[in-house]
Amino acid sequence: MNKINFLDLKRQYDSINIEINNKIQEVINNSDFILGKDVEEFEKNFAEFCDKKYCVGVSSGTEALKLALNALNLKEGEVIIPTNTFIATALAASDNNLKPILVDINPETYNLDINDVERKITKETVAIIPVHLYGQTCDMGKLIEIAEKHNLKIIEDCCQAHGARYKDKKVPITSVGCFSFYPGKNLGAYGDGGAVVTDDEKVAEKIKSLRNYGSPKKYYHDEKGFNNRLDNLQAAILNIKLKYLNEWNNKRIKNVELYNKLLEGVVNTPKIDKNSTSVYHLYIIKTKERDKLQEFLKNNDIQTGIHYPVPIHLQKAYSDLGHKKGDFPVSEKCSNEILSLPMFAELKEEEIEYVCNKIKEFFNK
Ligand SMILES: *Cc1c(COP(=O)(O)O)cnc(C)c1O
Repeated sequence: MNKINFLDLKRQYDSINIEINNKIQEVINNSDFILGKDVEEFEKNFAEFCDKKYCVGVSSGTEALKLALNALNLKEGEVIIPTNTFIATALAASDNNLKPILVDINPETYNLDINDVERKITKETVAIIPVHLYGQTCDMGKLIEIAEKHNLKIIEDCCQAHGARYKDKKVPITSVGCFSFYPGKNLGAYGDGGAVVTDDEKVAEKIKSLRNYGSPKKYYHDEKGFNNRLDNLQAAILNIKLKYLNEWNNKRIKNVELYNKLLEGVVNTPKIDKNSTSVYHLYIIKTKERDKLQEFLKNNDIQTGIHYPVPIHLQKAYSDLGHKKGDFPVSEKCSNEILSLPMFAELKEEEIEYVCNKIKEFFNK
């Protein structure tokens, strides 16, 4: 068996390379680089994919979150986020002068713990950023109830959940959702990219202005904006890839079914809430022997990952929040026990079988 990569983007490219190469050539031939026709087309198509009215392409998932907070006029106060997430969720809040208030996670779904959310709400709280982590939606029903009761905004971090559903509804479930098109995401560009998706016309218009120097009209600036546009070249690539996203997500789900079947009774496999349809950005197993297992798999040419080894509250960058070890016991325990197995649409059946056989060998099963 050849080495099994955690993620192999080349295989995906090989399946669509002619289409992609022709498109890239066309964009360059037309010198259509900034806010061109492909950005417009992609925005229309991705809004439709998410069953939302508007999509605004921006330069990354981090910037999508930052601009969404800004567009909702959240300029001071506290924002509740899970401590088990990628650092960008917290950075978006800090960058808008908002204080991230961390909450622990549910040990089964790894998504934010609703009870802890309620405990952490104060008079300063202005918003909640639920993260649909690993492709599984949060418990949005309860979260919306809490947000309404306390008059809080919700901004959904959908950066790992392109196409995921809560009940019958695609993310974002509430009015504003932020996506990343970092190359390794379920829908990835060939560089950085992101989008805000919303049903709120005012939010969409505000982000369109903010991403483009605060100018509704060239050289006329109504507010102090930024340069946070989605490249037209990236939008052109995303437009092609979007046509395959459902197929690729379904392949991920098939891969998960095989993993689950082969690993049943061997190791802790992902638990998906009955209200959620995950798009499995990542496939996470859990074991107390994580480090040894990871080493064993590495020695057998199987690449794995840890998402994430250090929760936000123990990151040096957030030492100013004053947290210490033990503050979020569930997240800390998970960060020591979780392991992400190879997961992408083009992963082959025999590769999954090989990975599972090695895991069985490790556990003597
Ligand atoms: C990838 C990711 C981001 C940030 O997206 P970028 O495009 O890399 O800026 C934010 N939140 C989560 C949960 C992510 O996985």
